[in-house]
Amino acid sequence: MGGPKPKASAFTAAHHLCIFCGGHEAATTLEHCPPRSLFRARQWPEKFEFPACQACNGGTSDDDLMIAFLAQLDPHGEPETLTKGKGLMRAVNKQFPGFLGLMFRQSAVEARAKARRLGLSPAPGRTHQQMGIANVPQATHACVEKLADKLTRALYYLHAGCIFPRDGGIQLRWFTNAQLLQHGHIDVLEVLKDMDGVSLPLKRNGRDLRDQFDYLYSVDPPGSLHMLRVVFGRAFGFVTLFSQIPGYLEQMECEIQAQQGSQESPFRFISTNRK
Ligand SMILES: [Zn+2]
Repeated sequence: MGGPKPKASAFTAAHHLCIFCGGHEAATTLEHCPPRSLFRARQWPEKFEFPACQACNGGTSDDDLMIAFLAQLDPHGEPETLTKGKGLMRAVNKQFPGFLGLMFRQSAVEARAKARRLGLSPAPGRTHQQMGIANVPQATHACVEKLADKLTRALYYLHAGCIFPRDGGIQLRWFTNAQLLQHGHIDVLEVLKDMDGVSLPLKRNGRDLRDQFDYLYSVDPPGSLHMLRVVFGRAFGFVTLFSQIPGYLEQMECEIQAQQGSQESPFRFISTNRK
């Protein structure tokens, strides 16, 4: 109501195209990416605001809620996190009826077995069932895919200085804390651990926020293949491989398959121009 806020209109005058749908739409809003709801105590990193059209910005508030909820799934969470988690849980239940049932419907026996497998015991006064070692329902995948797609485009904009094209390719692999606790490592991060990467400061008022959101951005020397590694605290994270050249990743995948046989890639396409 009453038109865009003054801050948004000054910002969108300087950045006039939406970076989330390939620069085809005029930007009328500014969007925080990662969403503010992922951060504790209303402290989100400075400079992570991006020009967005109404459709891109408005289209994902339910997803943001789901992601904020996921970010709270830290079995060692601080009291503040747990309180916020409860409020979020109510909100998630309202927006996604039945979701929590799917995620947390496990008997005490199942919960105890799962916790034992992960080498965890509940904090004093809490049961195994309250530990939040969650199953991951299908609805979560779609939300993480959207978040990964947006954050990949946002960080490409920051690091490459231009808008990622609509038909560029993005491949995703994501993981939860449960994989870390169960195996002691995240396989995809382990494979990539010696690879160089850069990141911008993740601060607000001098406070470092890498305990909640951290990333590394890598690019191969010709500049056609990029990689992003992201972790949200101890809750979840992802790796994306992406190229602004339409068909580049698709071609690369074909070549790898031809060399190594038809082993299925651990990454899946979330943006492709493949028909
Ligand atoms: Zn857009």
